[in-house]
Amino acid sequence: VKAHTVVIVGGGAAGISVAASLHRRDPGIDLAIIEPATRHHYQPGWTMVGGGVFRPEVTSKPMAEVMPQFVSWYQKAVTAVDQDNNQVVLDDGSAISYESLVLAPGLELNWGGIEGLEAALGNNGVTSNYREGMASYTWDMVQNLKQGRALFSQPPMPIKCAGAPQKAMYLSADYWLKHGVLGNLDVQFHNAGAVLFGVPAYVPALEAYIEKYGIDVNFQSTLVAVNGPAKTAVFRSTDGDGNSQDREVNFEMLHAVPPQRAPQFIRESALANEGGWLDLEDDTLRHKTFPNIFGLGDVSGTGNAKTAAAVRKQAPVVAENLIASLRNEPLRAAYLGYGSCPLTVENGKIVLAEFGYGGVLQPSFPKWINDGTKATRAAWYLKAKQLPTLYWHGMLKGHEWMAKPAVRSIKG
Ligand code: FAD
Repeated sequence: VKAHTVVIVGGGAAGISVAASLHRRDPGIDLAIIEPATRHHYQPGWTMVGGGVFRPEVTSKPMAEVMPQFVSWYQKAVTAVDQDNNQVVLDDGSAISYESLVLAPGLELNWGGIEGLEAALGNNGVTSNYREGMASYTWDMVQNLKQGRALFSQPPMPIKCAGAPQKAMYLSADYWLKHGVLGNLDVQFHNAGAVLFGVPAYVPALEAYIEKYGIDVNFQSTLVAVNGPAKTAVFRSTDGDGNSQDREVNFEMLHAVPPQRAPQFIRESALANEGGWLDLEDDTLRHKTFPNIFGLGDVSGTGNAKTAAAVRKQAPVVAENLIASLRNEPLRAAYLGYGSCPLTVENGKIVLAEFGYGGVLQPSFPKWINDGTKATRAAWYLKAKQLPTLYWHGMLKGHEWMAKPAVRSIKG
């Protein structure tokens, strides 16, 4: 059995960032990353590809290019965690042992959760910016659509980047408005949830755009089935008494977002909470039951917005606390639940939602630079021009820009 001081599962936004943050604090630390993929994706860029702002190439790099030189990379998938023996099991049957484990495998897009969706994707106007490589099809559809009905769906929470289903809709509607076709289109939003956005402070700004674009909003309306060739979608709505009703709607374009869950090897393990997500302490990001296991990113069961922006603040917290735990010192770094969702309400303006646990607003900038509750050009500039560079050359390299962990008060 191979052994490493720290084993990190996943080489996405979270896995690479935490490796870089650990190495910055202790350049001698022995790190391994287990990651099967050959490419690393900057998923926040997919919304911009779907809106014709970014070229698809800028959202992805070979994994070998982002994998730090100082880690041992196993290009395998983890199939199980054997937390009682401090080992992970890989898909070739081998095992790797650890002193400390970091779980960062992201989440699973459950395409099968919507009947017919996976088979329908990529044809007949059925698309999803959540699907690797498909955002450019969204953009094709947007440019070609001249009349008929365009549907945008949002599944039950939690999902990664909760604003992204709407972002696709606003950018599309903005294009249609500017090209004089919006009046010929019936644009509908079908949200499994009951509100436009979970944090009320941002809702008025979004409602103004719903009105501007004339979007028909349907709450508690969940996409349950798609028929590509027939161009029909079935939505299930549930009333206050729990009675459900199915409604079939025909469309020219459907932007669908699948329900999401933790990867199976977490969901069906002793590491999961009731919802199947990784059971971490909110502030330290250490596992609630197994003290040598930490986690971050989309797999986490903590109540923050599942975003790369959250990862940016989580990685230094995990790095600091993990090193403290290896040295038997108290854990001092705290994560306050920061997450951010840049809502692209039109090409050129963004409502930059930034908030922590309990929906407490955590703006990065003073109001005179950017008022997060309003659509601003400053926030668009940040997202379109600065964040990709910050991701590839800042976050993934362990430059902890505006990400200094809060300090926990330690009792006793
Ligand atoms: P990922 O980056 O998904 O990485 C997980 C990695 O784990 C993958 O490389 C995968 O191959 C690997 N893995 C999976 N299973 C295993 C296994 N069994 N063994 C080993 N490795 C495994 N965030 C923002 O901050 N702002 C935005 O505007 C934004 N917009 C978004 C728009 C869209 C359309 C999407 C899809 C996401 C968006 N996000 C946004 C969310 C952001 O991309 C994620 O929150 C972020 O990537 C989470 O990082 P992660 O490392 O947890 O997961």
